[in-house]
Amino acid sequence: MNPASFDAIIVGTGVAAVACALPLLKLGRRVAMLERPYSVNVPAGETLSPRCSELLSRLGIWKDFLALSPLPSTSVRIAWNRACLQEQDYSFHPSGPWWHVDHASFRMLLLCAARHAGAHLIGVSDIEVERVNRREWTLELLTATGQPQRMDTSVLVDATGRSAYIARKCGARRKRYDNLMALTTVTHSEEQIAPSDIFTLIEATSDGWWYSSAVANRTFVATFMTDGPLPSGALERFWNDQLGRSRFTRSRLPGSGEQRNVFCLSAATLKTEPVSTQALFTVGDAAVTYDPLSSQGIQKALTSGYAAAIAIDDTLRGSDSAAEDYAHGIEADFERYLALKSRYYSTVTRFADREFWKRRSNVDITPVESASRHLAV
Ligand SMILES: Cc1cc2nc3c(=O)[nH]c(=O)nc-3n(C[C@H](O)[C@H](O)[C@H](O)COP(=O)(O)OP(=O)(O)OC[C@H]3O[C@@H](n4cnc5c(N)ncnc54)[C@H](O)[C@@H]3O)c2cc1C
Repeated sequence: MNPASFDAIIVGTGVAAVACALPLLKLGRRVAMLERPYSVNVPAGETLSPRCSELLSRLGIWKDFLALSPLPSTSVRIAWNRACLQEQDYSFHPSGPWWHVDHASFRMLLLCAARHAGAHLIGVSDIEVERVNRREWTLELLTATGQPQRMDTSVLVDATGRSAYIARKCGARRKRYDNLMALTTVTHSEEQIAPSDIFTLIEATSDGWWYSSAVANRTFVATFMTDGPLPSGALERFWNDQLGRSRFTRSRLPGSGEQRNVFCLSAATLKTEPVSTQALFTVGDAAVTYDPLSSQGIQKALTSGYAAAIAIDDTLRGSDSAAEDYAHGIEADFERYLALKSRYYSTVTRFADREFWKRRSNVDITPVESASRHLAV
C-alpha cells in the first residue's frame, strides 16, 4: 500500500470523526485522520444523552467509556416558563440514564480507539486541498513538525466541528439561524458531589438560559446561553451579573463569589450546504449544529459519523445515490430539530418584553445574517 494514498481522509479527531473512522476501518478501508497540533480544550459537550450508550456500543467503545467512570444521571430539572423546578425522571428510560463525563478524557478515549483500530493519525498545521477529478483529491499538508506531505484520497470528510473548515475551503456555504453564544465556567467543589446532586439543571432567565451539571466527582460546569454581540467589558462580570439573576443555578453552584474563568463559545445553529457530494462529506457539527438546549450534539455527531461511513463505503463500491441519501437524512433531521427548537423556545412567555425571548417568540426558522463580531465559528 502506498502510505500516502487513502480511501478516506477525515479532517478532525472529534466525536463525529471517530464515529466515521471506526466503521470504515472495520470495513477494511484505509483511513487517515488529520488534526491540528493545538486543540482548544473547552469544556463543551460533557453530557451524553441516553441513546449514546447504544451508539458507543455499536462502535465497540462502550466498555472503554464506562472505564472513564462517567456519572450517571436520571434527573433533568427545568425552570422554563415558570419560576419553579419541574423534574423529568429518566429512571425508566429504555436506553438508560444520561451520562456526565470529563470532556478531555472522552476525547482522548476516542483518539486512542481510532489509533488502535488502524487509523493513520497526522498532526497538521496547514492543509491545501486540490480536486483532481470527480472522485479524487490531493492534499498538500504541512505536518505539525513542519514537514510537507502529499496525500491522495477518494473521499474527503470534514469533521472539523463548527468551523466546517474543509467544506468552506471547498466552496460550501454555511447558513446561520441565530447568534446564540455560550459563556461557560468550570467550578471545583471541595466536597464530593452527592449522588442526589448529579442532575442537569436548565433555568430560563430574562436574557437567556442557564445550563449546569456535575461532570466529574468534584467538578461542575455552568453555562449561560445568550445572544451575541455581548456587552463590552469583562466577561466574568457579565457572567456573574447574569448568575445573580438566576435562582436555582446560583444556589447549586459551589464557591459563590469566587474568581472564575469564563470561556466564550458560539452555540449558534448552523447548516452547511451542500451537506455532502460524492467526494466530500460533512459530519457532526461540520454538517449542522444544534442548540445545546437539545442535548443532542454528541448523539448527532455519533449518528452522522456512522451514517457517513456506511454511505462512503457504498460510494466507494460504486453507488451514485449513497452521498445524496446521506445528505437527505441529515437535512430531514435538521428540519425536525428547527421546528422543535422553535416550538420549545416560544413556550417561554414570562420574559416576553426581553429581546432574547422576543427573537424566539414566533416560529420563524429562516436563517439570519451574523451581526456578531464575537462569533468565532
Ligand atoms: C457550550 C456548548 C455546550 C454543549 N454541551 C453539549 C452537551 O452537554 N451534550 C451534547 O451532546 N452536546 C453538547 N454540545 C454540542 C457538542 O459539543 C457538539 O455537537 C459535538 O462535540 C460535535 O462533535 P464534532 O466531532 O462534530 O466536532 P468537535 O467536537 O468540535 O470536533 C472537531 C475536531 O476538528 C478539529 N479541527 C477543527 N479545525 C481543524 C482544522 N482546520 N484542521 C484539523 N483539525 C481541525 C478539532 O480540533 C476537533 O478535533 C455543546 C455545544 C456547546 C457550544
